[in-house]
Amino acid sequence: MPDMSDAPLRYRPHHFLCSLGFQGKGYSDAFTANMARIVEDRLRAPGGDDVEIEVVAATDEICAPCPKRRGTRCTSQDKIAALDTRHADALGLTVGTRLTWGDAKRRIAANVPPGALSQLCAGCQWLELGLCEAAVIELHESA
Ligand code: SF4
Repeated sequence: MPDMSDAPLRYRPHHFLCSLGFQGKGYSDAFTANMARIVEDRLRAPGGDDVEIEVVAATDEICAPCPKRRGTRCTSQDKIAALDTRHADALGLTVGTRLTWGDAKRRIAANVPPGALSQLCAGCQWLELGLCEAAVIELHESA
């Protein structure tokens, strides 16, 4: 039996940047707790840069407990699909792409300059908080 912890995370394209910017806020307590288990306990834990992630086209492991999820879709499907398209184009991601979290951060640093989120993430309710922009700036400063 394979160890499920070795299975790659499944991420839709825009969740790479959301994971970079995550600061414990989300759509519900269950959503936030699940995202914290993935982002804080895996990606930001020692060895997190080696965690493998596979790009998917529908709801993923971040979406699983979201109150806006309806099966494999979202109550804001058009907005979410547009986010995914822009983020996939920016990061060079296609469905089935497998990369590590460390590789994902290098792609973000190479392709997402400070200020780019205002266009990339247009329509996202979290954008105006500035947490994701701060994370992008920090990534560039540490690169
Ligand atoms: S602004 Fe929204 S879509 Fe963009 S990285 Fe942050 S949470 Fe994700």
